[in-house]
Amino acid sequence: MLTAEHEEFRASVRAMAAAHVAPIADELDRTDEFPARLIEVFGDLGLIQLAVPTEYGGPGADLIATCIAREEVARAGSMALAQLAGETGIVVQGLLDSADDALRKRILPELAEGRTLTCIAITENDVGSDPAMLRTTAVRDGAGWVINGAKQFITWGSLARYALVFARSNDAPRAAGVSAFLVDTDQPGWVVARDNDKMGQRGVPNNEILLNDLRVPDEMRVGPEGRGFSAALRGLHLNRPTVAAIAVGGAQCALDYAARYAAQRETGGQPVADYQGIRWMIAEAATQVEAARSLVYRCAEAHDAGAPHREVTRLSSMAKLFATDMVQRVTADSLQILGGHGYMRDHPVERYVRDARLMSIYEGTNEIQKNIIARAVLR
Ligand SMILES: Cc1cc2nc3c(=O)[nH]c(=O)nc-3n(C[C@H](O)[C@H](O)[C@H](O)COP(=O)(O)OP(=O)(O)OC[C@H]3O[C@@H](n4cnc5c(N)ncnc54)[C@H](O)[C@@H]3O)c2cc1C
Repeated sequence: MLTAEHEEFRASVRAMAAAHVAPIADELDRTDEFPARLIEVFGDLGLIQLAVPTEYGGPGADLIATCIAREEVARAGSMALAQLAGETGIVVQGLLDSADDALRKRILPELAEGRTLTCIAITENDVGSDPAMLRTTAVRDGAGWVINGAKQFITWGSLARYALVFARSNDAPRAAGVSAFLVDTDQPGWVVARDNDKMGQRGVPNNEILLNDLRVPDEMRVGPEGRGFSAALRGLHLNRPTVAAIAVGGAQCALDYAARYAAQRETGGQPVADYQGIRWMIAEAATQVEAARSLVYRCAEAHDAGAPHREVTRLSSMAKLFATDMVQRVTADSLQILGGHGYMRDHPVERYVRDARLMSIYEGTNEIQKNIIARAVLR
């Protein structure tokens, strides 16, 4: 299913990740500090800006390529840094789907350069899985809007130049009252209140953001007033297979490590890889990884071939559900294969277990993915 171009692209990302990601993956976990130089490395390969169409100066990558990039970076040992590939994807998709021509022409060429990070700010402390209940407000003020509220768990919040912020702009119930705004985070009123101290995927910032009388001109509204979620939905749906691709790469990385270890570690005068219990664990893990990979690329291929969005949504939730549950099993089994050594920080596998734990929580929990899939089946 992959073209020669895709294979070439995979090889270039793999080489970059071997040189720039693998050597720092453990250090990133320990310091919890994002190395800013990686923006240049990823940006020069076109990875941050993958989704920006060629007409705006971007690489115009398809969804398969984004999945490849994320899988390869995760496979090099960092599920966290895999998020830097395709980093602007959700915001770019939102702009393409809902922004007017002037806003697209103003922002997309800048994003195409691969030096600008973005974030998406939906979640609040009291509102996650049911975002239609969000409380942040946007009040009209002359030619613009004044936004007040607090956003929680925002990935890249402290480094993003632009944020797609969702706020309640009228009294209509639930989603009908919500609008989307592209916020320039250099504006006063965008306040990084907290660096969240995460269990895993450390080194990629995650922040609480306060929006204090943040002024946004009306030209920065993305989509019609009260239709904010339609600006985000397609981007979020299309991001899910790429999150699943991170899970595939992360699981492959853990399995490869455990298999190498099992072939060398001896007990009872034989490699532990010769025990049936260990062999079967490896066989099951390899099968699970391959099954998840198939689902990820089946979804990406369907999208790139122009399948109806409803079909892509169903597959994207399935890929996210299956792959992100899978990576937790495979990393846990990989740790088990290393025995006591796996529990120690001398090996990266305990980090893989911690990194994997996030995967079924963010980008819509797996319970929410099951709700989406069940709706599609029962429709
Ligand atoms: C590291 C990290 C990065 C994140 N990055 C971002 C980001 O960049 N931008 C952003 O806006 N948000 C981000 N999030 C937020 C993330 O999307 C939410 O945490 C997630 O959607 C769940 O919301 P919640 O934490 O409020 O859990 P809750 O909604 O409170 O859910 C609690 C539990 O109830 C279950 N549940 C809730 N509703 C249902 C239902 N209808 N059916 C079945 N079960 C249900 C959930 O699955 C979960 O198990 C991030 C979160 C984390 C941890």
